Amino acid sequence: MDEKTDTVETAVLEKLYVNGKRPTTPKEALDELLERNRRLVEGYKNGKNVVLFSEEEKIGRDKLTWLAIQDPENKNGQRPFATVITCSDSRVSIDAAFRPYPGQIFAIENAGNVAGDETKASADYSSGHLHDVHVLMILGHTKCGAVTATLETVLEKKAVESAISAALEKIEPVVRAVIEEEIEKKFGKPWKDLVEADKDAGYKELKDAWTLVQKRLALVNTAAAKNAIEQARTLYLNVASVKEAVDEGRLWLVAALLDLDTYEVSVVGRITKE
Ligand SMILES: [Zn+2]
Repeated sequence: MDEKTDTVETAVLEKLYVNGKRPTTPKEALDELLERNRRLVEGYKNGKNVVLFSEEEKIGRDKLTWLAIQDPENKNGQRPFATVITCSDSRVSIDAAFRPYPGQIFAIENAGNVAGDETKASADYSSGHLHDVHVLMILGHTKCGAVTATLETVLEKKAVESAISAALEKIEPVVRAVIEEEIEKKFGKPWKDLVEADKDAGYKELKDAWTLVQKRLALVNTAAAKNAIEQARTLYLNVASVKEAVDEGRLWLVAALLDLDTYEVSVVGRITKE
């Protein structure tokens, strides 16, 4: 192996960023994620192969992936710049949204992208041990099945399947708040008053309310965005290493929404110390 190839191999992970260097602040880390997403989405829309940075053009993605796998940095540990929590939904792909190379993004996945015990433990590991992680993103998505199931459960008072109930329980307060807000907007009175007034009439008015919200797919997406914000808050309040990193300004907790129709990622909330 000649010296030139060797230099590329040992330095390759350092270069695979849109600005040519690893993000060292929360702002840079968030910009890196959003800029990658912007370039990818632009390419998808125009039917073009996306080149994120010049090395991809010169060396090629697969070869770069192999070089990243061989990078001494990955051999000796890991230095991801971001942690991303997503839903297990098969349509949600961190690769398609951000195209990370091996060693760049610490990923946590579960149905409904909720901050349950395993997720808290993984987030704790990421904040407590991976000191190059400068952004922790909770990435919800449009048309989320877990959010939709929670909506239906709350609105129809359906029984929840036991295996998924732990996830839905965590989404339920958010969904309930979104429904209540929506119903109060439409009927001019709180949902619980409607329930009370409707008891003898067989819940007619409530059924109308349900029909109203059922028609609105947007409500699922509103709830998915609020869910991402709420799970971010849960992590901040319940995981000491996350709170500490945020309070010290080393980490931004960012809630975002992935639009499954376009693959655009939009920030919907953030917890930062600025
Ligand atoms: Zn989902």
